[in-house]
Amino acid sequence: MIDAKRAIEAAIRSKEKWDRSHYVGASEIGGCPLKIYYDKTEDDGFRGNGKTERGHALESAVISLLKRGGMDIRHYDNGHTNKQKEFSHPDYPVTVHPDGIIFGHRKRPHKRDPARTVTEPFKVAVLEVKTVGTDAFRSLSEPSASWVTQTRFNAFMAGVPSGLLVAVDASDLENVMSWELEAMTEVEAAALLEKAKRIMAAKEIGIEPMAEPSADNCRWCGWKERCERRWIPDEEAKENEAEAPEIEDAVEKMNRAKALKDEAKALESEAKPAILSAAQEHNAARLKAGSFLAIVEPRKGRVTLDTKRMLADHPEIDRAAYEKQGAPSVAIKLKEIG
Ligand code: SF4
Repeated sequence: MIDAKRAIEAAIRSKEKWDRSHYVGASEIGGCPLKIYYDKTEDDGFRGNGKTERGHALESAVISLLKRGGMDIRHYDNGHTNKQKEFSHPDYPVTVHPDGIIFGHRKRPHKRDPARTVTEPFKVAVLEVKTVGTDAFRSLSEPSASWVTQTRFNAFMAGVPSGLLVAVDASDLENVMSWELEAMTEVEAAALLEKAKRIMAAKEIGIEPMAEPSADNCRWCGWKERCERRWIPDEEAKENEAEAPEIEDAVEKMNRAKALKDEAKALESEAKPAILSAAQEHNAARLKAGSFLAIVEPRKGRVTLDTKRMLADHPEIDRAAYEKQGAPSVAIKLKEIG
């Protein structure tokens, strides 16, 4: 049987993931550093889906329409041959791939025959195309901050004065909005380049960078299920109480987890003395019982620093200079309210 659905699913599954593990791209650079870190250190298995394929196909269709309408667009991905141009920064771990480069044309005198003129192309802007679902397109009046950052940063990296950001309704390519945006200045771009450098350094040493949670950043983040930093209550939220019947199941699980931890603690304190006594009696650190081997392992005591005494003996040490602030996170406590 000819099975189109299976063929499409197999094609998507077999796609190679675009390897961004060694650099930060323009579409991510404005986002949450922790999300970028997770994207580069952990494979979420996502290779795209039907929706992302539709997005790519529509972007190609939009570029093709813009070209047929008279724009000179080069270095774009036509869906068959990836001709997309890549711009890498020489000093920072940043590489960008604008959707296309728009060229203008100007006349200049011919080099050998100044009486004649020749037309020469020159880079005018980078192109960034976004396809949006019909409902989202209807409510769109301004481009999102992340689109603006991406387009302006791409223009900076490509060394062109501006970027053309085009948003189209995925159901009707004649529904178009576009914004011409100035390339990022050196100063603006420097902040993002430094941010990329810090994220890649964090990746090298395996320490998570600070999160930048926000409604925009966290809404579509693939890591939000496991991320404890997506929401830290502010002073107002700390005082608020709300009815939340939707978490009854989750609260029940937390309660069970707490009971299991308490039970584990009680079981351990019952079992440990019995095993130790038997080990001493047999003068053996390895004891067989049923299908288990209990091993009594000596552990060295933890070495700790008596900071109070050290600071008293050395008042010249500036404690604040050696303090390290850990990343904020949340803990969830349960309180029985009857
Ligand atoms: S959920 Fe929010 S804070 Fe957490 S990694 Fe994602 S974007 Fe960052």
